[in-house]
Amino acid sequence: MGSRIVFIGFLAFLAVGPVVLPEFYVTLLNYIGLYALVALGLVLLTGVGGLTSFGQAAFVGLGAYTTAYLTTTPDLPAGLALFGSSPWLALLAGLALTTLVAWFLGAVTLRLSGHYLPLGTIAWGISLYFLFGNLSFLGGYTGISGIPPLKLFAFELQDAHHFYYLIWVVLLAAIWVTRNLLDSRVGRAIRALKGGTVMAEAMGVDTARLKMVVFVIAALYACISGWLYAHLQRFVNPTPFGLHIGIEYLFMAVIGGAAHVWGAVVGAGLITLLKQWLQDWLPQILGTSGNFEVIVFGLLMIFVLHRARDGLWPLLAKLVPADATRRAVPAAAALARAPARQPGGVLLEVVDVVKRFGGLVANDQMNLTVKAGEIMALIGPNGAGKSTMFNLVSGVSPPTSGAVRFGGERVDALASRQIARRGMSRTFQHVRLLPTMSVLENVAIGAHLRGHRGVIAAALRAERAEEARLLAEAARQIERVGLGEYMFEQAGSLALGKQRIVEIARALASDPCLLLLDEPAAGLRYLEKQALAELLRKLRGEGMGILLVEHDMDFVMGLADRVVVMEFGKKIAEGLPEDVQNDPAVVEAYLGGVE
Ligand code: ADP
Ligand code: MG
Repeated sequence: MGSRIVFIGFLAFLAVGPVVLPEFYVTLLNYIGLYALVALGLVLLTGVGGLTSFGQAAFVGLGAYTTAYLTTTPDLPAGLALFGSSPWLALLAGLALTTLVAWFLGAVTLRLSGHYLPLGTIAWGISLYFLFGNLSFLGGYTGISGIPPLKLFAFELQDAHHFYYLIWVVLLAAIWVTRNLLDSRVGRAIRALKGGTVMAEAMGVDTARLKMVVFVIAALYACISGWLYAHLQRFVNPTPFGLHIGIEYLFMAVIGGAAHVWGAVVGAGLITLLKQWLQDWLPQILGTSGNFEVIVFGLLMIFVLHRARDGLWPLLAKLVPADATRRAVPAAAALARAPARQPGGVLLEVVDVVKRFGGLVANDQMNLTVKAGEIMALIGPNGAGKSTMFNLVSGVSPPTSGAVRFGGERVDALASRQIARRGMSRTFQHVRLLPTMSVLENVAIGAHLRGHRGVIAAALRAERAEEARLLAEAARQIERVGLGEYMFEQAGSLALGKQRIVEIARALASDPCLLLLDEPAAGLRYLEKQALAELLRKLRGEGMGILLVEHDMDFVMGLADRVVVMEFGKKIAEGLPEDVQNDPAVVEAYLGGVE
């Protein structure tokens, strides 16, 4: 009840704002709306997607300058004349241009990792700023004036009051779209980006494409903000599109709470009001003018970041009792399944595979096969090369030489998402869950490649039927592994052993025919291990092939159909569990020769 009432109260305040507030505050609210739109893009890009950009102001400039140029230039080239005939058509041109430019800049910078990406955004932020200032047809540093007002049908938006509703309706629509997007199959994949690309790719997510998508969306929000700004001001010059403003947008998102859509509004509101008040009051308090507000502002920012690392929104949200969250997954039709494999047919073949890390040979001439309906265990002392083998098989890193065949097809040159699509799924030795997402959502990421609806359907909430089926599938797998009671808990709050089981449910949600489990029983209690063994036997009975790395010998020996033993990257034994157990080479490897 609580948060809904606060939201309705906020909408009511927005609705009557221009009627009761002085002109000055209406203007401030307009700017807050424009800034929040840009910060909203940063929530998606930086807060959720983990990609830091200092350069968003340049995209605001792109939107503003496109419409300024098109709507004020008398003799446009023939192809552009149509777009100059109305600000609304100029907006379309701006969006198209921004998409192109963002695509190009994204292609160049998004590959950069770590601090190179933010540095890249600074570089193009500066470049575009100087481009605006140096192109004579854009009026140089003087800018372009005489931009026509916007018209809504026959009504001219002449002043701040008129613009107010347009700005806030656009912002609220963008918030709605962003929330829809995040609460969808694509949104889960976007949220998975932050945890690194290895897990997301293993679940079939095309992470490079997704990064580009959020980058372009953030740029488009900025472009729309710039377009509104140009027609509100009726004048543009390069100043508001420089790097320092780009930094300020990032501040807004981070201070407000970069992981939450409302954080953009809180951050834009707070920073805009604060700057205004500091500018008004500081000279009075200090008795002298000077840019003291910049200094005080900087100190305040540091203070807030120090006290609230995740921004202010989470703190504000805590003040309001949350609405009762839905704690049931509605029933939905089951997803289509891959045809069952013939038991006994070979699923996976590893042939003469070598993997070198510099001088270290982590896998040396390894051979193994896994058949449908069998559990193959890969064992060996720490550092023997087992996890490396998993990574080669699942496409995380390519073998130095040798071949990996899956379902008869060479897969050693494929990306892991392509291998996932062919029916292989895996868990990780070092658990890779998204700790703040629920168990249900984490497992639903596993079903990613069984859904098809894309960004636009998600943004408009037109994919609800498919989404219900994906969630129902995730819930089914969670029940199957016995974690039904934890479905709505945050994954990070579970004991480590249970998190491993969540990873198995996530892998199962992709409907694999081959399951790769890296130390699934580590951290489990005795009874939990028995339940896991029971589950794996059942999966084997359904014809699934399972490749298992495990340290617990009792667990392995009671479960596996065949065992391969590795030491120093080489296979030292292979066979039935009881034979391998008594093999002198294996005893030697495990006991280091101590009889
Ligand atoms: P296991 O899973 O059997 O304990 P790993 O496959 O993790 O062993 O490691 C095998 C060897 O390869 C170890 O010596 C490890 O240090 C090395 N190794 C694994 N991954 C890398 C890497 N990315 N770069 C360099 N060395 C690695
Ligand atoms: Mg390992």
